[in-house]
Amino acid sequence: MGKDKYRIREKSGEPGVYEVDSLTHTHKPYTVDLFELMGNGICNCTDYQTRCHPNWEKNCVWDEEGILRKWKIVDYGVRGRPNKSRTQCKHIKLTRHYFLTNLLETLYWKHRASEDEIKNH
Ligand SMILES: [Zn+2]
Repeated sequence: MGKDKYRIREKSGEPGVYEVDSLTHTHKPYTVDLFELMGNGICNCTDYQTRCHPNWEKNCVWDEEGILRKWKIVDYGVRGRPNKSRTQCKHIKLTRHYFLTNLLETLYWKHRASEDEIKNH
């Protein structure tokens, strides 16, 4: 976030899985899986492992049969002032934004194509 620059790439053959590279700090890329945990996503960074995931587990309610009945997704928050109860790290936040931007573009072109089809009939 902020002045940090990131590169996000979809891992081929693994839907929902992305590699997040920092261009300002050198470290190995983080792996984000957006489809995990009811769409909360998971990441292998320290913030996710030590804060976001424990927060996620605190919010979960399981029934007697071991089925997850309640959960709560808490956004990363604002740069410099992240939510204390966040269930998503900044890498998840960035990847969700990237995912949504691509999805909206895809939907836009689908919508355009179906409108063109209507016009041409
Ligand atoms: Zn992360």
